[in-house]
Amino acid sequence: MGENSDSDSWLGDPRLDYDLGSKAQPVLLPCSLPEYEYQLDPYMGCGHQCLYCYALCSQNGGWMNEVRSYKNLSERFADQVSQLDPQPIYMGWYSDPYQPIEAERCQTRESLQVLLDAGFSACILTKSDLVVRDIDLLLPMPEVSVGISLGFSDDSLRCLLELGTPPNHSRVTALQTLKEAGIGTYALVCPILPFLTDIPMLLESLHGYVDSVWLYPISIQQEAGRNWQNIWGVVNERYPDLATNFKAAVFNLNHEYWQKQRTLMKKWAKESDVELLVNF
Ligand code: SF4
Repeated sequence: MGENSDSDSWLGDPRLDYDLGSKAQPVLLPCSLPEYEYQLDPYMGCGHQCLYCYALCSQNGGWMNEVRSYKNLSERFADQVSQLDPQPIYMGWYSDPYQPIEAERCQTRESLQVLLDAGFSACILTKSDLVVRDIDLLLPMPEVSVGISLGFSDDSLRCLLELGTPPNHSRVTALQTLKEAGIGTYALVCPILPFLTDIPMLLESLHGYVDSVWLYPISIQQEAGRNWQNIWGVVNERYPDLATNFKAAVFNLNHEYWQKQRTLMKKWAKESDVELLVNF
């Protein structure tokens, strides 16, 4: 989901002006990641309500409260899929495919059924343990992988900054369940908040449950953005002594905080059997 990159393509959901109810609107879009040809985001908007979300700076309100979905998604998706060779489809770029509304609306589950019926696979990224509900559809897929994103070692801080997400321990348990079921798993430690995210503790909690871990710092484009204003407010109120250093590190990846983490992660990677991909 769109919190973890400084790529320009994360600046906004291009479907903003689309009529999701129109059959003329393709549901399968070219993928923003080079490894995949196509991506599907079953929802526009996201009820996970992360106060640092990239979308808060580019959407005109409503992103968190007016989640929109496609009309006749499975039919339209099946139609597009039938014109392609079987391949993995990425789900979770612009919004979370397992955000709260999915528990009732099941657009992600219906899309997975389409992929399975057509011999395709999915690569999923979510913050939710709801994904384990769909193990029955994921398991038979030939190249399936599921990633779960988590960035808070302190769950009380998560409650402040990710208002609608499941707790960390539920996400770790979900990764364990997926892994034990035989599904390829990865974790995104994201967003790393300087001085606040306990990276070694998170890595420890994931050990044995993931094939790889990606590390991404908090990515803020500009101080005037709503996402920075949200975070800055919380940090100032809760950690006033840390605030100045926190801000300096957020806007400078050469800050000594990141240098120290790089050294620590190099050491950790040498001693671990988990692939570690450090993006700072
Ligand atoms: S999970 Fe959070 S960061 Fe990702 S799209 Fe939803 S609200 Fe934004």
